[in-house]
Amino acid sequence: MQTNFLVIGSGIAGLNFALQSAKKGKVTIVTKKKLIDSNTNFAQGGIAAVLDQTDNFEKHVEDTLKAGSYHNNKKAVEFMVRNSAEAIYRLIDLGVEFQKENGKLSLTKEGGHSERRIAFVGDYTGKEIEKILVKRVREHPNILILENAFAMRLLTQKSLFQRNSCVGIQIIRKNKIENILADQTILSTGGVGQLFLQTTNPSIATSDGIAMASQIGCTIKDIEFIQFHPTALNKNTSPKFLISETVRGEGAKLVNEKGERFMENVHPLKDLAPRDVVAQAIYQQQKNGQVFLDIRHKSREYLKKRFPQIYEKLKKLKIDMTKNLIPVTPAAHYECGGIEVDLNGQTNVKNLFAFGEVSYTGVHGANRLASNSLLEALVFSNQIAKNLIPHQKIKQTKFNAPKILRKNSKETLLAERLKQEIKKIMWEYAGIVRNLKRIKKEAIPRMERIAKELKNMNGTNQEIAETSNMAITSLLILKSAYKRKKSLGCHFVEK
Ligand SMILES: Cc1cc2nc3c(=O)[nH]c(=O)nc-3n(C[C@H](O)[C@H](O)[C@H](O)COP(=O)(O)OP(=O)(O)OC[C@H]3O[C@@H](n4cnc5c(N)ncnc54)[C@H](O)[C@@H]3O)c2cc1C
Repeated sequence: MQTNFLVIGSGIAGLNFALQSAKKGKVTIVTKKKLIDSNTNFAQGGIAAVLDQTDNFEKHVEDTLKAGSYHNNKKAVEFMVRNSAEAIYRLIDLGVEFQKENGKLSLTKEGGHSERRIAFVGDYTGKEIEKILVKRVREHPNILILENAFAMRLLTQKSLFQRNSCVGIQIIRKNKIENILADQTILSTGGVGQLFLQTTNPSIATSDGIAMASQIGCTIKDIEFIQFHPTALNKNTSPKFLISETVRGEGAKLVNEKGERFMENVHPLKDLAPRDVVAQAIYQQQKNGQVFLDIRHKSREYLKKRFPQIYEKLKKLKIDMTKNLIPVTPAAHYECGGIEVDLNGQTNVKNLFAFGEVSYTGVHGANRLASNSLLEALVFSNQIAKNLIPHQKIKQTKFNAPKILRKNSKETLLAERLKQEIKKIMWEYAGIVRNLKRIKKEAIPRMERIAKELKNMNGTNQEIAETSNMAITSLLILKSAYKRKKSLGCHFVEK
């Protein structure tokens, strides 16, 4: 199979890129489950943008830099912020109905924002965006969709001056291995949350893009910066259900078991301090008991309307937001680093691009400002589409003929066990508080053994390939964490 633009992943980054590039050539989307299965579909809070007269570019840039501990690439931040409003209006043109009041976009606030600048749809913004993008992609004549197709390996060939060039991917579909060749390949495979025992990310977030890219020489940057969302619901669900930061934005307070508002003396922004600060404060409080969100002062009518999804979910779990405290705990949420790209999404491998959470644009620095990730995915994938050139020549090479997969249930079971071990190691050693000596002496050797065991397996199937990707990325994270000797943003080193 051959295509102009080969998009791997069907979250906001992949679908938006597909729609943009379909104006210029044939697009094929490969996604490992159904189209809607993505982190995007889980996003609750909204998208940040400069949309109100009280706000300006400088403030949004400064808030982003401050949240990122000034470790960000300022040029990339400015580029994203300047293109933020245009990106929102494009979504509106596609059919996304953001909440409005008196004909004007309603804007909410989240941690680290100095202004109300987050456009939203109830507490299910991601679901609404995903629904509209999926609809538009499905009706587009230039877009071919391959669901339940797992991208396993990036195909490369040496181009002029022996530079590595990406020519497509190898996928597993219907129990066969196939090759898809493309002029340009786009990694939009999302995040890494599933590497951790506790996460808000759905099962697709197994870091495949970062692992595959690292295998062909892409630069992977700053991946030790994993954002832990402070307020996942502290109930035994997988993934952990998120209690959006907008709940605090609308007045909820964090309290400990004694009812003390412990954020008061931690940070000037109190409950709306940047996520790393709140997650670490909760982590400390949890040594002495549970932590809760308290929004009991709001009326039932208001909560049902403003947070319909959260209200219903809690009700099912017998938590009444108007009467009960909501138990919360930090969980792995967002990968701030990733595959290094320039402002066009170009990686250091020719004809390979990366967008969205899988990429490192430099926008987030050492910690992401809330609601900047959907924005980053949109702005950067919009930009590249303007500069695309299809119809480059692909050398027909050895990659062909589908192969039938050999089943090996014993090895699949072993991979499943190793997956659980990876999650435990990452949660213990690369979680909210990190001990560098233990990372070096215990976590890295254990992860190296797991990676080797997976590499030596005879069979190939999605379970084994996915677990292998998890081990590869985990090792990269552990090694980067070990190299960063001082605490910065969401990388917090135990003294
Ligand atoms: C609970 C939750 C709430 C959030 N709330 C917000 C918010 O309010 N605002 C905000 O800005 N951000 C929020 N985020 C973060 C944001 O949702 C993500 O960063 C963003 O959606 C990532 O989009 P993406 O397109 O890069 O990846 P995703 O949406 O995760 O899509 C990745 C796609 O790649 C596919 N894929 C992965 N590996 C393979 C493979 N090997 N082969 C084929 N396909 C593959 C997946 O199946 C999926 O379709 C939230 C995240 C979560 C989990």
